[in-house]
Amino acid sequence: MLILNIHNKEQEMVLSNISCINRFLMQNCDVTFWQKLLDFVYPRICVGCGKEGVFLCDECFTGLEIAEQMCPMCGRGSAFGWTHKQCLREDGMEGLICLYSYEDQTVKKAVDELKFGFNREMVNLLLKDFVFESGMMFDAIVPVPLYFYRENWRGFNQAELIAREVGKRMSVEIGNYLNRKRNTKQQSTLEARQDREVNMRGSFRAIDAKKIRRGRFLLVDDVFTSGASMREAARELKRAGADTVWGLALAH
Ligand SMILES: [Zn+2]
Ligand SMILES: [Zn+2]
Repeated sequence: MLILNIHNKEQEMVLSNISCINRFLMQNCDVTFWQKLLDFVYPRICVGCGKEGVFLCDECFTGLEIAEQMCPMCGRGSAFGWTHKQCLREDGMEGLICLYSYEDQTVKKAVDELKFGFNREMVNLLLKDFVFESGMMFDAIVPVPLYFYRENWRGFNQAELIAREVGKRMSVEIGNYLNRKRNTKQQSTLEARQDREVNMRGSFRAIDAKKIRRGRFLLVDDVFTSGASMREAARELKRAGADTVWGLALAH
């Protein structure tokens, strides 16, 4: 495919040449066309070192900083991400697995790549060595819904993309059991942890109570920062009768 082998300056020329694109469209009007066009305007370049051909090369993948596991309720360190005994609450989370450290610049770039949904391969690359070690079994994997301050231009939810891939690997089905209920205030403007928590209250609504009752769930999100949204999602699942709720985040 000639068009895929052209480099940057020519790319711009070709892109601006509508008749050429049209001709290409006429000749290649199939399902792979959009992927090819995407490869063309969005070339594979390693987010870590800039090497061409892959979004994250093996060396940069090996160098990614692994996250220290922590208690999802208090944010302090905890072996294997189990919630501390003293932090366990009926409406809280039982544990959290974080894969990478968001402070690592390559991790940050890789995770941020997912936000607009163009780079679906990145999820696979980041989950390459993923094994869930808690010994917990799950009835469904639930993506944390998008909430107001994170909604991007096309309403794309990267958590769902990650959830689908994790589900495939664990052979657990995806349960979209949570809806976003109301717009929350810009979370980043709320400094105190408690304010964030209060601001998230009532953000999600459980939509399939029958399936939630007595279920064991794994909530999935891209980044666990303050954790307010994931704890709120867990609270809503528990309110609807969930038995246990763990979390999984690509990074914190
Ligand atoms: Zn690299
Ligand atoms: Zn704790």
